[in-house]
Amino acid sequence: MAATIIEEIKPALYRAEIPLPGNPLKATNSYIIKDEKRNLVIDTGMKRSACREAMRDVFEQLALDPEKTDFFVTHMHIDHIGLVDEFVASSSVVYFNRPDAEILNHKNIWGMILAMTERHGFPAEMVKMAVGSHPGKHYEPKKPEDFTLVEDGDIIRYGCYELHCIMTPGHSPGHTCLYEPEQKLLFSGDHILCDITPNITTWLDESDPLGDYFRSLDRVWTMSVKLVLPGHRRIFTDCRKRIEELKEHHHQRLEEVMAILREAGPVSAFDVASRMTWDLVAEGWDDFPLMQKWFATGEALAHIRHLEYEGKIRREEQGKKLVFKLAD
Ligand SMILES: [Zn+2]
Repeated sequence: MAATIIEEIKPALYRAEIPLPGNPLKATNSYIIKDEKRNLVIDTGMKRSACREAMRDVFEQLALDPEKTDFFVTHMHIDHIGLVDEFVASSSVVYFNRPDAEILNHKNIWGMILAMTERHGFPAEMVKMAVGSHPGKHYEPKKPEDFTLVEDGDIIRYGCYELHCIMTPGHSPGHTCLYEPEQKLLFSGDHILCDITPNITTWLDESDPLGDYFRSLDRVWTMSVKLVLPGHRRIFTDCRKRIEELKEHHHQRLEEVMAILREAGPVSAFDVASRMTWDLVAEGWDDFPLMQKWFATGEALAHIRHLEYEGKIRREEQGKKLVFKLAD
């Protein structure tokens, strides 16, 4: 196996590329602060062999003693939290946020998602296959008492780095960035990515993740950031420009959903997704892989929820299904 790519970004601060073969994200960035007292690893990659081998290589190349290594997980998705439980030692602290920990530890989250998926028009026979093949379902989360839960504003210190926890819900309900005010570094997780757009998705009804995401982007916009260290792809400098692009992207998506409902409504979230434009190499919606249909519908739904919150559209029961149309 080729040696894992590790670069020193700042003194004693490294970025390691943990490969995700076959996944369009390509790799997860793991950031490591190496210090005599204790090391910190920020995000890890998935629970799969390519990631595991790369992470072992990181521990070896940087000579990290597991007993002196702690972890910070930006959010609950398996490409970030996946490997943590395999690399923790008995003395390791795992920093994590409460909203995501509650979801990971929810007894029947997949049952709830399954029920909502069908209600939103995802064809019944696809539902079971979709949930059955969802990579998240196969990850057994750690027990809640194993996490050290952080709150917004908490500060953790490793080496010469003082890291402020900045809660940025949207991509996940408890997504948390780390901000280092001295050098103005932002470990952005999947809140702000450069070459790709973080997906904002929901299946559950009680929230407005896209609204949360806009608020979290606005909050980070007010901060002074010199270097963004994202969860995927390259590190970059112009944080505010990227925030504006991401907001513009979602405003265009909201317009697109409004146009679809104006033309075709009332329709289900699944039907909205099938009419939206996606950057995927496929002939058309019917040729999309099942998991892509699933993610697309979740993303359509996040936009639908936001428009509902803004009072621009409303829902209607159609038998067992939910459909959406423009508000009068
Ligand atoms: Zn990710």
